[in-house]
Amino acid sequence: GGKAARNVLILMSDTGGGHRASAEALRDAFRHDFGDAYQVFVRDLGKEYGGWPLNDMERSYKFMIRHVRLWKMAFHGTSPRWVHGMYLTALAYLYANEVVAGMMKYKPNVIISVHPLMQHIPLWVLKWQSLQPKVPFFTVITDLNTCHPTWFHHGVTRCYCPSAEVAKRALTRGLDPSQIRVYGLPIRPSFCRAVLDKDELRKELGLHPQLPAVLLMGGGEGMGPVEETAKALGQELYDHQRHRPAGQVVVICGRNQALRSTLLSLTWKVPVKIRGFEKQMEKWMGSCDCIITKAGPGTIAEALIRGLPIILNDFIPGQEVGNVPYVVDNGAGVFCKDPGEAARQVARWFTTETDELKRYSCNALKLAQPEAVFDIARDIHKLQPQPAALTRIPYSLTSSFSYHI
Ligand code: UDP
Repeated sequence: GGKAARNVLILMSDTGGGHRASAEALRDAFRHDFGDAYQVFVRDLGKEYGGWPLNDMERSYKFMIRHVRLWKMAFHGTSPRWVHGMYLTALAYLYANEVVAGMMKYKPNVIISVHPLMQHIPLWVLKWQSLQPKVPFFTVITDLNTCHPTWFHHGVTRCYCPSAEVAKRALTRGLDPSQIRVYGLPIRPSFCRAVLDKDELRKELGLHPQLPAVLLMGGGEGMGPVEETAKALGQELYDHQRHRPAGQVVVICGRNQALRSTLLSLTWKVPVKIRGFEKQMEKWMGSCDCIITKAGPGTIAEALIRGLPIILNDFIPGQEVGNVPYVVDNGAGVFCKDPGEAARQVARWFTTETDELKRYSCNALKLAQPEAVFDIARDIHKLQPQPAALTRIPYSLTSSFSYHI
């Protein structure tokens, strides 16, 4: 037999689609670059082992972001250190034992967190057990700009920031420059390494071979003014003088079933494809010429890699606000809240302003960071202790842990 694989535990939470996507991207990058040397587990320990509210974050989050003012209050109300400090301490006392038991099941040699609330309990445990730096802990921030301060935990080995803006915030919050690395947001290798031919993709996905295509989506949950925008596109992309469509529309509704059935019941003047949750987003993006989406970091980073000009039509208050200037100020797209206005912008890009569309596309490609996920995995690999030393890491954590509470 060969060397024993090192265990990597990636902690995430299904609040939005982005955290899981980043976690799975990292897992795939480890597999891609290091094969059997690592065994990677992607787990939501809060859901699996914690009590309320850890086991219910997905539902609470969905509820709060649908009620924008509530989420604004939760986001900004918990920003001062003493507020979230108290909240996190309470959580730790309530659930540390359960979360640790879950954590230890995977005997991690490396822990990576892609969620701001998945750092504190594991890091306390590592500290109490004097396991750092033998078990290094890494945080991968998945917001592009205005992220919540709970992301910046001082006890991490490394804090991977997706942009210079986030790195600046990390420094302001007191992290040491040696802890900070800026590689970009981790995107699935299937995306970054894909060699895609637009004509082939359109054949495979059943799109019109020639008409320019706009992709319309709203994150994993199909959020934002998707329905209104789809209808507006149906109108604006029809050339009334020539009596023919000037473009086609792909709508990806994600897990929003209601949206999907509403759109499926309508009739359209231009070719329209309406889909639910799609597993191969790189293909849908690769077959289109621009995208309309809410300002989700995952979707933005993916669109940049595919060189899609971006029309942002919505954002979640707090962590997604800063994604708007990130896209707009870098010339990769525009912000347009009004569905009719967004649709007219697409119509112009597809008819009279094709040069402008190309310019935005070039800027998007310049901003893209397809190597980020590999850079992060390689940096983590470099920081590993020698394999021989790893077999001697004591794992008596769960038995001795209860004395510390
Ligand atoms: N996504 C997907 N299939 C879908 C819709 C979305 O795989 O049908 C992915 C999308 O490619 C992106 C993630 O879900 O990686 C959405 O993340 P983002 O940060 O944009 O928004 P969130 O859903 O987290 O609010």
